[in-house]
Amino acid sequence: MTKLTALCVYCGSSGKVRNSHLEAARTLGRLAAEGGVDIVFGGGRVGLMGAVAEGAQHAGGRVVAIIPEHLEVLEVGLRSANEYLVVDSMHARKQLMAERADAFCALPGGLGTLDETFEIITWRQLKLHDKPILLVNIDGFWDPLLHLIDHQIAEGYLRGPTDGLFQVVDRVEDVLQAAASAPSPAIPDKIEQM
Ligand code: AMP
Repeated sequence: MTKLTALCVYCGSSGKVRNSHLEAARTLGRLAAEGGVDIVFGGGRVGLMGAVAEGAQHAGGRVVAIIPEHLEVLEVGLRSANEYLVVDSMHARKQLMAERADAFCALPGGLGTLDETFEIITWRQLKLHDKPILLVNIDGFWDPLLHLIDHQIAEGYLRGPTDGLFQVVDRVEDVLQAAASAPSPAIPDKIEQM
């Protein structure tokens, strides 16, 4: 069992998306708050990022916003976060998000979400950490990506089937349970040594 005190959420910064995705993000924030789990996120008030934080704060939960200085305006930094941490680069943001969380999940998002999600998956592949990672496949959003990964396995680029690097759940309601019931990380947290 993984001791879950903080969940890192990677997700889209766009607000011009399906209402069901925004609603799912809010629900995840609320469920984390109700479970006493902090939300660690990219710190913006826009898109699904803002919706997760809003759901958590509305339900009395703690949110940890980690935002690079140059994005504070563009992504409308959530200064009301319980911790509002301004960093000096995208790399510093990803590093700190990784250090502050016990588990990671990816909601629907764009290129930034892909970058963040694949970095944390590849760090696990490289045995830099062993924290649970969940792809939240809301409305089958990640299906094309899962097909690509199957293709990579078929072509011999992955030893497959993804060797337990990440888990897929269909609903935000399954995230906390799946993260908490994952085996305790076998590797001590070494991310800060990157
Ligand atoms: P997106 O999924 O493109 O809407 O972006 C989601 C979040 O990822 C936003 O907060 C972006 O600032 C962030 N992001 C975009 N590119 C990168 C990157 N190369 N490294 C880390 N975060 C990124």
